[in-house]
Amino acid sequence: MIGKNLTFGKSEEKLLREKDRSMTRNKIIAGNWKMNMTPSEAVTLLETLKPLLHNDEVEVVFGVPAIDIIPVVEACKGTNIKIAAENMYFEEKGAYTGEISPGMLVDAGVRYVILGHSERRTYFHETDEDINKKVLKAFEHGLIPIMCCGESLKQRKQGITMDWIRQQVKVGLQNVTADQAKIAVIAYEPIWAIGTGIAATNVQAEEICKEIRECIAEMYDTNTAQKIHILYGGSVNADNAAGLFIMEDIDGCLAGGASLKQDFGKIVNYK
Ligand code: PEP
Repeated sequence: MIGKNLTFGKSEEKLLREKDRSMTRNKIIAGNWKMNMTPSEAVTLLETLKPLLHNDEVEVVFGVPAIDIIPVVEACKGTNIKIAAENMYFEEKGAYTGEISPGMLVDAGVRYVILGHSERRTYFHETDEDINKKVLKAFEHGLIPIMCCGESLKQRKQGITMDWIRQQVKVGLQNVTADQAKIAVIAYEPIWAIGTGIAATNVQAEEICKEIRECIAEMYDTNTAQKIHILYGGSVNADNAAGLFIMEDIDGCLAGGASLKQDFGKIVNYK
């Protein structure tokens, strides 16, 4: 059932008001460092990248390893850069050795949380149900989920891409209210494009992002579908970013490898 009552944090309400005022969706350009960068390397990278980011119209987000969050938040003070965690547990606290709670992330200054990345689904066996619990918990704490979805090459060849993605989106957003969905971020990341250097073409990426938006409209309404951000991820680089970003339903990207390089500056300054 969609629309179960969940409380809104003050920051969520503010974000929603801002989104309501703006007619168009701003771009979100997010990096995913994965399991790269020690804390000191992270700060050095940030200091290299910060002067290269010259586009105030986009929301720049760095998804960083948990141990890097505190120094990276510190290094980004005084900028508009937002920090994302790469994962989070769905319990508040307790005997869950090795896990990170939403409260810990908020206290450390985190704004977004990447959930359901295909690497977590594949290597750590995360299910759509697990991801849904994390999405709900993130909203409870005023964190914005960047919920990933995407098909394998086999699924694409079998012609079940959209069935698969619809299931990921529908289960992942179960019990998420329309107001929450409006501020959520979905990252469409075809598994065959992640880390391979073979990005989806802008037409391929747009086709799926548009269908995801249609799926959101069916689950909620067209207003919600127009507000939600849908990113593309999978071998985005300085050469293909602008072509992806001109597509109507692509609201930015989640970039892995390119976010560890000066290329990220070129992606942010795509126009
Ligand atoms: C990712 O990590 O989500 C990703 C898309 O990686 P890459 O850009 O390296 O393909």
